[in-house]
This record gives sequence, structure tokens and C-alpha cells, in this order.
Amino acid sequence: MPHLPRRFLASLLLSLGAVSMTHAATPVLVIHGGAGVVRKEMTPEKEKAVRAGLEKALQAGYSALKSGASSLDAVTRAIVVLEDDPNFNAGKGAVFNHDGRNELDASIMDGATLRAGAVANVHRIKNPIELARAVMEKSEHVMLIEEGAEKFAKSIGMHLVDPKYFYTEERWKALQQALDEEKAKTAEPGKTPHHGTVGAVALDSKGNLAAGTSTGGMTNKRFGRVGDSPIIGAGTYADARCAVSATGWGEYYIRATAARDICARVEFRGDELKKAADEVVLGVIPKLGGDGGVIALDKDGNIAMPFNTDGMFRGWVDRDGKTHVAIYAGE
Ligand code: ASP
Repeated sequence: MPHLPRRFLASLLLSLGAVSMTHAATPVLVIHGGAGVVRKEMTPEKEKAVRAGLEKALQAGYSALKSGASSLDAVTRAIVVLEDDPNFNAGKGAVFNHDGRNELDASIMDGATLRAGAVANVHRIKNPIELARAVMEKSEHVMLIEEGAEKFAKSIGMHLVDPKYFYTEERWKALQQALDEEKAKTAEPGKTPHHGTVGAVALDSKGNLAAGTSTGGMTNKRFGRVGDSPIIGAGTYADARCAVSATGWGEYYIRATAARDICARVEFRGDELKKAADEVVLGVIPKLGGDGGVIALDKDGNIAMPFNTDGMFRGWVDRDGKTHVAIYAGE
């Protein structure tokens, strides 16, 4: 081998590193609009509206990534679009609790620093994901709830909306039906009681991952019930290798610490992302009696989106910049 000057070798190595860095840091975005799809209740109109909403959210998040924004920004932007869309159970269009109120939960996590923020049971925050992010960035805490969270929102100048803002007729009717079924005791035992959630995971051009989730929770929920969505490690998790946002029967996702379990399998067992996500969503959780799905993304841009319900509203822009939107298995 010819004797090469040290400086030449160093710059050669650096440029090789840059090539592999560029590949690893091709932006990728994955979103979901919940795994509470009931196929026989879907109409062509609803399907069309949901697909259009997912595309709009992908566009908002991915254009940010393409212009160099962080994965945290992309996740926030995509989720804001889904929260503003009444077709999804988050923000406007959130489900009603037993008392006819909307109680909103959200969380976000930065994979590069393991910083996280979450809010639960807020009533007057138009975009709970933005408040979760503010908890992470502007407070010394990770999770704020109820009036305290809203006080914090006010203190940082966030506009509070009238709780009526979240009302949609469709969700109101769903609550009335749930209350009627409860009274008549006709609710099917074991029937999945969840109704969706929205979430996003992103990989930015610097190779950093982030994850976020936002939800209205479950129709007819009581007693200040909180699901997995605002709980770091259950509904949301991101580290340097792996990012996950979950949807489904929250109680089971909490008990399984689903999002963290998937990322821990990647970190400590060296599992491929798909294997890790499949084992938790299709193995651990159904064994406990729960159902739902996740979107997961690793640092190389690999995507996994397992679910064990009729369908999961989801969309992604892959490493080649191609946009996909899907509802049912095999799409
Ligand atoms: N996981 C949410 C919750 O339990 C609901 C859902 O995703 O369908 O609050």
C-alpha cells in the first residue's frame, strides 16, 4: 500500500463518514390517526376525509424536515394538523367523557436528549401537543395536568379556547350511544372501547429522532381516567435509536410500557425495529387482553407499523421521499 499522507487519510475518512451520515440522515416521517378503525362503520366519505387529513399532516411535517427543521418541529407540526382536523380523536373532534366534557392528553419526546413533556386532562388547550412541548422546553417538569397545566399555559402566553371549540356532533352522538348501551347493559363485553389518537415519529437531517402523541382518550371515560398517550414510555418514547407513538387500548399499553419496551428491545437485544414492534403489539399486548397499534422509526429510517385491530389510519414519507397513506392491513 502506498504511503499516504496523514492529512489525506483523515480527510478521506471524514468524507466517507459524511457519505454514510447523509444516508442515515435522510428525513423520514410517519404519522397515525389511531387504530380504532371499525371496518363496517367506515363510509367512502369518511375514508376520503381521513386520507386527505393524513396527507395534509404529512405535507406539513415533511416540508419542515426537508427545509432542515428538527424532528421535534416536524412531529409538532404534523400533530397540530391532525388535532385541528375533526375527523381524528385529538384536539377538535376529541371524544367526550362520561360527563360530556372533552379531556385531552398529549406528550412529546426528543430522542437526542431524552427530554420529554406531557399534559393530561386539559379542557381549554386547542393544540395539546404544543403545550406538551412547552412543558418540556419552558418548565422544569415533565408532566402537568388539569387546571395546573392550563395555568402554566396561561403563564407562558398561550391562548385558551372555550371548551365548546372541541364539540362535534359525531362524537356527541357516540357518547349518547355509549351511555344508552351502558344503561341497557348491551355493551359487548370485551369490545374494544378505544376511538383513536394521533401521533407522529420523525427522523431529521441531523439523524435525530422524536415522537409525539395526542388524544381525546376513550368515549365515556370517567373519574379522571388517563390513558397511555401522555405517559412517556407507554404511548410515546424516543431515544437515539428508536421512536414510537402508540394507539389502542391505553390501559394495556401502560401495563406493557409498550413504547419503551419496543425501544429497549432495539437497544439492549439489538433487535430489528420490526421484530421489536411486532413482538410487543402482536404478542405482549394481546396476551394481556389489549389491542391497538404503533408507528415506530429507527435511526436508519426503517419503519414498522404493526396493529391488531381492523385498521390503523397511518401515513409515511419514506427514505426515497415517497408519500404513502393507508388504513387497512396490506396497503
Ligand atoms: N390510546 C388512547 C387511550 O387509551 C386511545 C386510542 O389510541 O385509541 O387514551
